[in-house]
Amino acid sequence: MLFFNRHHLRLIVEGKKTATRRRKGRFKNGAVVGIRHWMFEKSLAKIRILRKYQQPLGAMTEEDANKEGGYTLKQFREVWREISGSWEPAQVVWVYEFELVAGSHVKRPEHCHLCGSWKVFPHNFGLSDCEDCGAIYNGQGELVIPQLPLVLQATA
Ligand SMILES: [Zn+2]
Repeated sequence: MLFFNRHHLRLIVEGKKTATRRRKGRFKNGAVVGIRHWMFEKSLAKIRILRKYQQPLGAMTEEDANKEGGYTLKQFREVWREISGSWEPAQVVWVYEFELVAGSHVKRPEHCHLCGSWKVFPHNFGLSDCEDCGAIYNGQGELVIPQLPLVLQATA
């Protein structure tokens, strides 16, 4: 699996981010890889790696930056600094260019319908749940199991 911040996950499922740069190149060309924000959640979707190559950061073009999520080169340098600490033009990284695997994105609401929280994350069996109130959503983003009152949870 590949880890992304939540903003980048959203850009990927919207088709606006089709490349990522990494220190290690452990995935093969053609591999199908789950994408998620952290270890203990289900993948939000799957991507298929279409192209893999090495490149010094300093050799990036405006087009490369655009594939990273609609950034200009200047913007991408800032994003990279935020994520990796520093921008070293001579640093050689692995570039993965990818596509979203059709139908692999588990849909979920932007905000929980019950409590308004944005922390609605993919879970098991194509379901998503709200980290704040426990509401569960199906793969179409519809509420399926409302939160049980705390008293009931304690006795269940
Ligand atoms: Zn909620």
